[in-house]
Order: sequence, then C-alpha cells, then structure tokens
Amino acid sequence: MKYSLLRGMQDIFSEQIYLWQYIEENARKILENYNFQEIRTPILENAELFLRSIGEDTDIVEKEMYIFQDKKGRKIALRPEGTASVVRAYIQHNFFNSPPPQKFYYIGPMFRYERPQKGRFRQFHQIGVECFGVSSSWIDAELIYLLKQFLEKLNINNLTYEINSLGCKSCRPQYRKVLFSFLTDKVGQLCIDCKRRFDKNPLRVLDCKVPSCKESLKNTPLIVDFLCQDCKEHFISLQRELDEMNISYTVNPKIVRGLDYYTRTVFEVTTTMLGAQNAVAAGGRYDDLVELFGGPSIPAAGFAIGMERLIEICSNSLLIKPKKPFVYVAYTGSSIENEAKKVVNLLRNNNIPTETAYEKLSLKSQLRKADRVGANIVIIIGEDEIKKSVYIWKNMKDGSQGEASLNELLELIRRKYDTE
Ligand code: ATP
Ligand code: MG
Repeated sequence: MKYSLLRGMQDIFSEQIYLWQYIEENARKILENYNFQEIRTPILENAELFLRSIGEDTDIVEKEMYIFQDKKGRKIALRPEGTASVVRAYIQHNFFNSPPPQKFYYIGPMFRYERPQKGRFRQFHQIGVECFGVSSSWIDAELIYLLKQFLEKLNINNLTYEINSLGCKSCRPQYRKVLFSFLTDKVGQLCIDCKRRFDKNPLRVLDCKVPSCKESLKNTPLIVDFLCQDCKEHFISLQRELDEMNISYTVNPKIVRGLDYYTRTVFEVTTTMLGAQNAVAAGGRYDDLVELFGGPSIPAAGFAIGMERLIEICSNSLLIKPKKPFVYVAYTGSSIENEAKKVVNLLRNNNIPTETAYEKLSLKSQLRKADRVGANIVIIIGEDEIKKSVYIWKNMKDGSQGEASLNELLELIRRKYDTE
C-alpha cells in the first residue's frame, strides 16, 4: 500500500525549507521591532467562531470550510484564517483589561477546501498580525508600512497597494440600500452566485471575479461617496499618513474583501508576478468583531500574508545558504568508535554542526559521505594518531590538511566556523 499527499497539501523540505525559515525569521524580527508578540492558537476551533465572524455569504463559509463532528457531536472546524481565533483568545484571556495597544502576530497553517491550483492550496500558511485598542488611522497606515518594509526586505518590489473604506454600521446600511436598488435592475445579467447573494449581501457582488458581472458593475455607486463624516475623516487621514510615509497606493472603491467583519479600512497587496492568484497580503480594520464575540467594544485592525505566494515570488531572487554540517568526523577501526563519539559530542556542545557515519565504513566512503553532506572540515581519527593524542584534519574546500591536538583542533574549527 502506498500513501501520498492529500490533494492541495504539500510537503516542504530541502531548499524550500531554508526559504521558509529565512522568511519566518525575518518576519519575526520586523514584527518584534513593532512590538507585536507571538500568539499560537489551536488549529481546531468551534466552527461557529468562523461561521459567525466571516459571514454566511462568503466564499469561505459557503464552500471552503473544513468542518466535521467530533466524538461528542460538536461541530469543529479547521481554521480557515487567523483573526477569529486571535479575537477569541483576546476575549477569553481578558487581554482588554491591560492598556492598549495590544499587538499579536501568528505564523501557521490555515485550511480551505478550494480547487488546488498555482498559488492556491488546501493547507496554506499565513503570517498575520492583529492590533487591538487603537482606532486611529495611524495604526492602519503603520500596518501597510510594515508590510511594505517586510516585502522589500525580501526583494519583492513589483507590488500594488490598494485601499478602500467600507464605512461603519452607521453609514454602510445606507450605501447597501443604494447598491441594492442599483443591482435590482442588473440582476438578470449577474452570475448565479451573485444572483443568490445580492439580496442578502449586495456588497459581495462587488468582489465577483466573473467578467460579465464586472461589466455590469461599471457604473455602480461607490461606497466612498456614502461614508459618514467620521469614516470619511478616518479614510482621509489614512491617505495623508500613507503619503507622509511615501507609500504609493491607489484607492480602489470596489475592494470589499472576502470576509464580513471588516469596517472602515480594507487593503490588498497584489503583484503581477503571480498570475490569477495575485493577492500576496490583505487586511483591514474590524472595529465591531470583539463586541460581536461578546467582549467590550474595542477597535482592531490586522492583515495576513500568504506564505506560499511569497515563496513563489521570492524563490528566484533570494539566495539562501543551505544548512549543513560544518564538520564530519571519520574514524577507522571499531576500537576508535568511543573516541569518535567523544569528539562528535564536544563539537556539538560547542555549537558546531557535526555529522559522522554511525557505522564501520572504509575511510574512502566516509570521505565521500563528508563530501556529499557538504562538510567543510573532516576530522580523521586513527589508531596511530590516538596514541600520539593528535587528530588529522582535512579542509574539504581547499584540500589543506594537518595534525592537531583536540584543543587546537577545536580552536581552529571554531575560528573557521565563525568566519563562514
Ligand atoms: P483570494 O482572493 O486569493 O482567494 P482571499 O481574499 O481568500 O484570497 P484572505 O482570506 O485575505 O485571502 O487571506 C490572505 C492571504 O492568504 C491572501 O492574500 C493569499 O496570499 C493567501 N491565501 C488565501 N487563500 C489561499 C489559498 N487557498 N492558498 C494559498 N494562499 C492563500
Ligand atoms: Mg479566497
């Protein structure tokens, strides 16, 4: 019986894993500069958490959720995104009792039952951030600035930043009404999904990728013209802040995002390097979500970056050094095995990556193995040398070799390793 990966899932290894580690390490470094603290929430949550927050008429809830019943008949979901879980944790641990802002980040797998294709998987990974307690557009601008800084660190430059405001619960209903009556005349021309969605959630129609729907929406009323005074001011100050930060962006009044919980700011970062799956990161403000989950009224904003899409665009431009053992310990004769163990342990205890054969092999095949794993230095332990308390070392890169006592050898290797 042979087993293989589930559809839409991937194993990540070899050169790819170094790239993942590099990106994750850089993300942590930058996020910690902005005082985001890591949070790790479970992959399984109560399905209701997502159904309520993401919204019924969204792609995720309609068709992409992995939901199952556990042994007690509870409805459980594999998380399709990170925000709902972080908000749940924020309320569950009373984080709102500490002074704002509270900033969290997560790195981990998400699950959506989508049709697998380039840039679209069923298990994919996100780096996400959530910031609680600040209503100022300063935070919204800072999130976009942070994204830009991170993406530029990874040599990704061909990016477009698009922003929009979705208003709030006082101004959005008005726009919704206007949009609804506009769409009522067009409903015959809309796709099946939009026909079904339009009376429950007309904003969702704006997000439709079907060309005929896009065509029908050409002269649609735009939400930016219906914002209340507070939302308008928030949106204007966000744009002023982005200008001050020298971020070039465009206002795209048709961005509504695939999740229902957003209020005011929404944004998307796209690239021309990915084809159809062009969104690298997306986010926005969700000032009502904490309250919707039973917490106090706390404003919040965040974003999520798709790791697989990042990897796709930077795999050619980033040269990442593979991780390999620096030293290979070779030995001849079984009585030497204990000596080899001692040397291997000493090197590893000194933080020098070390490998050995673990079995009796000819010196020739041990040297071949050392070469294959990419070791820089081989230490050869032989009976005659042990009697003299010396070890032979060989530099695999330049072919030089010599003899040294254990202490000298350690010193020599450490010096070489530090300058690598
Ligand atoms: P899309 O329009 O591509 O479906 P989305 O709006 O569903 O994206 P979000 O929920 O905002 O995506 O998730 C944020 C980011 O996560 C996306 O910009 C994308 O980079 C990534 N992402 C989302 N779904 C997938 C997936 N199935 N496979 C790989 N990456 C994904
Ligand atoms: Mg999607």
